[in-house]
Amino acid sequence: MSLKGKAAIVTGSTSGIGQGIAEALAAAGADVMLNGFGDADAVERQRAGLERDHGVKAVFSAADMSKPDQIKAMVADAEAAFGKVDILVNNAGIQTVAAVEEFPDDRWELIQAINLSSNFYAIKAAMPGMKARNWGRIVNIASAHGLVASPYKVAYVAAKHGVVGLTKVVALETAQMNITCNAICPGFVKTPLVEGQIGEQARANDMTEEQVVRDVILASQPSKRFVGIDELGALTVFLCGDQASSITGTSLSVDGGWTAR
Ligand code: NAD
Repeated sequence: MSLKGKAAIVTGSTSGIGQGIAEALAAAGADVMLNGFGDADAVERQRAGLERDHGVKAVFSAADMSKPDQIKAMVADAEAAFGKVDILVNNAGIQTVAAVEEFPDDRWELIQAINLSSNFYAIKAAMPGMKARNWGRIVNIASAHGLVASPYKVAYVAAKHGVVGLTKVVALETAQMNITCNAICPGFVKTPLVEGQIGEQARANDMTEEQVVRDVILASQPSKRFVGIDELGALTVFLCGDQASSITGTSLSVDGGWTAR
């Protein structure tokens, strides 16, 4: 599957799933704009590594996905660097685990901003160029929690359900323009985000981290294993290819059977 000549933005790609998706898109030949927080040297090694290993152009934007003006500037910077944005992967996300009545107001607001509103602002900014070129691929990294709920994740579950709804509307508005918009709904993937959550849940429930992984995390997934980052990269590359041009408005579960229950 070649994406040679295409230009992509992957938000939240300095770690975890986004890093893997950026790598997969570059391996398929796409130029990539990385984004996210992280140690400057590590980010530069990652950026230079994509160029060295895959012969693509790679740039980095430090835009904060909770800030609409910075999101707009990120898209403009990508258009300046590549001449266009063909592929937008909205991946940046954060998580907080707490009961509804104890859930901090500021975390609710921040989770909506990063996990949901950033998708809207980035799509809004990239859409005029995609429409003008009559080609676009938007992949929103939602979650199994965009389809089903778990306790203590009120802000995350609400935001990810919002991403699934936003995905459908964008797909309907662009269905005749050779632009697709889909959500990927992963189950548990072993990334820094989930490792933090394992620690939080272990402390809150007086369990060991091994018990949380076995009895809480993997208990949700009939496959009894974490989803691989490479599996999400491969699906994203497929969704960005021409063979996936009729797949739009869907939410693709990659969750080891979790949401089939
Ligand atoms: P991660 O913590 O490893 O990576 C998150 C990335 O987002 C990092 O690059 C971080 O710098 C970036 N980021 C955070 N806040 C940002 C901000 N304000 N502006 C710009 N970048 C920001 O997490 P992950 O597990 O790789 O999660 C990636 C996405 O996948 C998230 O949307 C998450 O909700 C979703 N997801 C993860 C899992 C899982 O099990 N790990 C499951 C389903 C969905």
